Amino acid sequence: MIRIEHLVKNYGANCAVDDISFEVGEGEIVGLLGPNGAGKSTTMNILTGYLSSTSGKATVAGIDILSDPLGAKKLIGYLPEQPPLYLDMTVEEYLNFNYELKGCKLDRVPHLEQICDTVRIRDVYRRVIRNLSKGYRQRVGIAQALVGNPKVIIFDEPTVGLDPKQIIEIRNLIRSLGKEHTVILSTHILQEVQAVCDRIVIINKGKIVANEKTENISNAVEQSRRFNARICGPQKEVLAALRGMSGVAYAEALAERDGDAFTYTVESERGVDIRKKLFYLLAERGWALVGLESLGMNLEDIFISVVDQSEEKKTRAARGERRRRGADRTSAEREIGAGLYEDAKRQREEAAAREPDDEE
Ligand code: ADP
Repeated sequence: MIRIEHLVKNYGANCAVDDISFEVGEGEIVGLLGPNGAGKSTTMNILTGYLSSTSGKATVAGIDILSDPLGAKKLIGYLPEQPPLYLDMTVEEYLNFNYELKGCKLDRVPHLEQICDTVRIRDVYRRVIRNLSKGYRQRVGIAQALVGNPKVIIFDEPTVGLDPKQIIEIRNLIRSLGKEHTVILSTHILQEVQAVCDRIVIINKGKIVANEKTENISNAVEQSRRFNARICGPQKEVLAALRGMSGVAYAEALAERDGDAFTYTVESERGVDIRKKLFYLLAERGWALVGLESLGMNLEDIFISVVDQSEEKKTRAARGERRRRGADRTSAEREIGAGLYEDAKRQREEAAAREPDDEE
């Protein structure tokens, strides 16, 4: 339904989107995930015809957004990060205005009523938008995107600034819209794409570093086995024991100290749960474990983890178990992923080389 090929956008010397290619199939919900400044909004603005690209091609249902922007825009509903609301209009006036603007041919009253039911704004239909809560304003923004019943709906950071209850409601709404529409949403929140999307495209510094089914990214996240452990005992010996444990990929001592307890970051090898073993080892040595906190993954960890998995896939592919998804990765993606991986590896090695002082 959507095809982006070798898209590039330069702002002067700054390359915001650097040779991005991906596809979104009919009925899919795809999330663009990346830190702020990654190039998500720029990609969406090109896709929706708000911005021109420096080079590359974007098509919606086969219509080129650059050569036939009006034709393509008829197929797209767009909710930008700042919803384009006219605050002095009532919801009714605003949706009718959008109906006219889009030259919608659907039967007006039932169409707008249906939209209001879908996004649950019937109770505020006659109210002035300025007086609505942020959650309701976001719903009105989504309603505007649904006018004309477009095949594709694009949401840019749809839950920014909402409270937790509103976030859940908007995510549920997007999920339900995915039954009838093709949806792309951008976010910098991993849980958002995990909750809503079928597939996740991770963008970093204008490049795609992963394009995976959500379940694959979620598996990678679950495989995170990093903990902070607070342990009472001589720091140097404890650290040596942690590093000597089978199943431990990496251990380092942090600067924190709480009485005779020091904090250590411990990472297990993939697929190994070291928590019980850690408990018994420490008990045997007489070192009390006074805290064990699982560390979440940040986006960089996820990039590394996903790239790690893709490297495994490549190895399997070389053994003849070639998989289509692995083959989709471009050399640029591998390069940036490998760069992130090497950086993290180097930092770990440097940290490991800095032996802590024995402060016993
Ligand atoms: P994201 O949506 O992922 O936060 P953006 O697409 O907004 O990222 O921005 C990507 C990069 O392009 C950033 O470095 C940003 O500073 C830059 N950028 C975005 N819009 C403009 C603009 N109008 N002029 C110059 N640079 C821009």
